[in-house]
Amino acid sequence: MFFRVIPKSVIPDLVRGLAEQYEVVGPVAKGETFVYAPLADAADLRLDYDTTALPAKRWFFPESEALMRFRVSDNAVVSESLDTAPRVLFGLHPCDVNSLLLMDNVFLGETPDPYYKARRDNTLVVGVSCTPGEYCFCDAWGTDETHWGFDIFLSDIGDDYYASIRSVMGADLVDRYVPCRAITDEDTAAFQRRTAEFKAAFTNGVDTSQLPVLLDAKFDSEIWDKLGEKCLGCGACSMVCPTCYCFDVHDELDADQLGGTRVRTWDSCQFKQFAAVAHGQNFRDTRAARVKYRYYHKQWGYLSKFERVLCVGCGRCTRACKAEINPPRVVRALQTGVVD
Ligand code: SF4
Ligand code: SF4
Repeated sequence: MFFRVIPKSVIPDLVRGLAEQYEVVGPVAKGETFVYAPLADAADLRLDYDTTALPAKRWFFPESEALMRFRVSDNAVVSESLDTAPRVLFGLHPCDVNSLLLMDNVFLGETPDPYYKARRDNTLVVGVSCTPGEYCFCDAWGTDETHWGFDIFLSDIGDDYYASIRSVMGADLVDRYVPCRAITDEDTAAFQRRTAEFKAAFTNGVDTSQLPVLLDAKFDSEIWDKLGEKCLGCGACSMVCPTCYCFDVHDELDADQLGGTRVRTWDSCQFKQFAAVAHGQNFRDTRAARVKYRYYHKQWGYLSKFERVLCVGCGRCTRACKAEINPPRVVRALQTGVVD
């Protein structure tokens, strides 16, 4: 990794330059919130955003996608849909960059998912530093920093960005599109000051230190029943989560029944039918069982396999859940035995 200082004023030029070769996707205002969307105009880019309603994962693993067309007569695949469009995802916060690394463990493991991989291979990631919002607790998981998973990361140091350049493609982009200069000791000091201020700005104070032990000890706790009584089973927590990756696959037959399309859509372990099997059995028939499953998967099961929890503390589920069920609250309930 190497570093450059990039004036903030040249970011629109950088975006315009990128747009000559790539589809550039970044945070834009939408009503009272922000979304990652293709940038029609560099001026639409809002690097001062707090968080986006939906996570960046949808640019690699869309909420609904056609995987392939098939022919019924001989069960043949007629065409496969790999999205290889060159794309730049511009303006991801550290939590969202980290979420992609967690998704990579799943989709790029022993048997890589070709649809996810095609998009990942053809997408450059430009990260940007942020200010902790009301619901953020990424500091609890160490996902408030990122050292991997991006091509360029822009840290705000006033009128300039302290740019960490991680890949050859990132270096090429900087060389081609932006006037920049080498860093000085003053720039590094500004970067350190800014990082210290950022870390001091978190207000959630979530202590996750004993979480795996608590989860082991509280498997049969009544807190899961209490949380289940509150849960609406709506699945919003999974839909907004940058690290939830469950999906369903179904076939849509054409009207003439000669062919069809295989479609993949996001699914949620909070939906009642998620664990339903033949003969009407359901392994997680209650909302309590489903809430419990979500937390044990994210904070215990994934951790035991990949040594990281499946949460980056983005706080999107805190915003989305009408029943006020969220990781900080669940962690407190595990610590105190009381659902507050
Ligand atoms: S935890 Fe909240 S967002 Fe998730 S399913 Fe239950 S009510 Fe919906
Ligand atoms: S569980 Fe909630 S806080 Fe954690 S990554 Fe998912 S949406 Fe963000």
